[in-house]
Parts: sequence; C-alpha cells; structure tokens
Amino acid sequence: MKKFKDKVIVVTGGSRGIGKACCEAFAREGANIVFTYNSSQEAAKSLKQEIETSGSQVLALQLDVKKYDACRKFVEKVLDKFQKIDVLINNAGIINDKALMMMSESDWLDVINTNLNGTFNVTKNSIISFMKQRKGNIINISSLSGILGLPRQANYAASKGGMISFTRSLAREVAPLNIRVNAIAPGFIQTDMIKGLREDYVKDVLPQIPLGRFGEAKEVAQVALFLAGDESDYITGQVLRVDGGLGM
Ligand code: NAP
Repeated sequence: MKKFKDKVIVVTGGSRGIGKACCEAFAREGANIVFTYNSSQEAAKSLKQEIETSGSQVLALQLDVKKYDACRKFVEKVLDKFQKIDVLINNAGIINDKALMMMSESDWLDVINTNLNGTFNVTKNSIISFMKQRKGNIINISSLSGILGLPRQANYAASKGGMISFTRSLAREVAPLNIRVNAIAPGFIQTDMIKGLREDYVKDVLPQIPLGRFGEAKEVAQVALFLAGDESDYITGQVLRVDGGLGM
C-alpha cells in the first residue's frame, strides 16, 4: 500500500527544483498533487503529464505567492476540487543576492514578499481547513542561510529566518488541533537557484561541506516525505537541516 494514497499534497513553486522533486516523490507514494508555478508554464505542463501517467490526480495552477487575494482564490480552488488539504509545502522562493550597500528597496521587498509573505499568504488561507479537519501538516522550506546568515543575503536570510520563527510560533499555536508545522533548512542543493550564485563563491563553499558535495533536490524531498508521514507524528516546530553537515 502506498504511503500517501488518497492524500492531497499542495506544493508551491512545484514547477522546478526542490518543489518538483517533492511533487514527484509524493506522487510515487500515491498522493494527489496540487502544485503551483509562477512563470514556468511549459515545465508545469510536462510535470503535470508526468504525474498523471503515474496514476495520481494533479491540479497545476499559476500563482504568484506574493499576491494575497490570489492565494485565497487558489486555496478555494484546491478545496473545491479535493475538499481537503493533507499537507502544505511552502516551497516557492527566490534569491537576489547583493551587498546591502547595493541592495535597493525593491531587491529587499521582492525577496521578503515572495519567501516570507508568500508563506503567510498561502498558510493563512489554508489554516481554517486544517483546523476544521483537526489534522494537518505544514512544511516550510527555509534555508541554512536563515539560521547562519550569509554575506550578500541580508534579504534572503531575513526571509528564511522569518520562516523559521513563523514555523515555531504557528507550531505552538496549532499543536492542540493536531496540526504539525516544521521547516526544512537545505544547504546547497543543485537546482537553478544555485546556478544564480557567483562561481567563485560556490567554489569556496564546496570544500567546507563535510559530505563533500552539493545536495540533490530529491534528498530534500525525502525529508519532506518523512515530515509529512506518520513516522514523524511526534515532531513539530522543528527545523531539519539537509546540508551535508555544512551548518554544524
Ligand atoms: P528554483 O529551482 O529556482 O525554483 C523556485 C520555484 O519557486 C519555482 O517553481 C518558481 O516558479 C517558484 N517561484 C518563484 N517565485 C514565485 C512566486 N512569486 N510565486 C510562486 N512561485 C514562485 O529553486 P529551488 O532551489 O528549487 O528552491 C526551492 C526552495 O528551496 C526555495 O524556497 C529556496 O529558497 C529553498 N532553498 C533552496 C536551496 C538551494 O540550494 N537550491 C537552499 C536552501 C533553500 P516558476 O519557475 O514557475 O517561476
């Protein structure tokens, strides 16, 4: 029996990278998948086809997580189709690395509005459904940067650190309703996001990773499966690092 059969998993930013790997991993375990994309329409289309052939139901919707009303309508559409959400994975995110001196207000706001406010926008609009079910599971994809802080990432680290505090506060608030809220803090994972980093920076980082390599998106997805499943029933408010040991 597949572990997530008949469960409904919502993944924001599912078109590429870690979000895509999460969609594939949960579909392999029999889940019905709702995923959003922002600009990657073609990638979303092909992922939808891929998941449909595995036998799961899929809903792929365009959503800019920065927009509160759009997030409200998105959740309404999900509930119209599936009547419930079992697991929400707040994954959509961007970087825009710059020294603070060079960081414009819009560089700051874009990252905060996407990563942190986007997490609020989708979670806030889903929480009532979890509360009514007296069951729920929320996984926020934060970052090691949100724990350690990294140079040229004041905007990104602040957004990801904010996601960690959001995770802990909400976990305490909704634990009595049997809703678990956890975060994953990936280190360097091989996706398009890493391609945007400066080459010399990436070269410097690699020798500092105890496991000696960057991670793969599917290795983050495996941890999401664990946090979403019954094996982690007694875990809430935690931040699980998936970083090859970099942050220890
Ligand atoms: P990625 O390959 O660049 O994918 C980012 C995803 O987010 C895409 O699906 C993108 O959608 C979506 N997205 C971006 N802006 C959005 C918006 N305004 N509204 C809705 N969706 C939006 O990045 P990734 O590496 O998979 O990162 C996924 C998450 O992991 C992010 O939160 C990131 O901060 C976190 N993370 C990544 C790493 C890493 O090393 N890769 C490390 C730590 C944390 P479209 O393609 O459709 O625009």
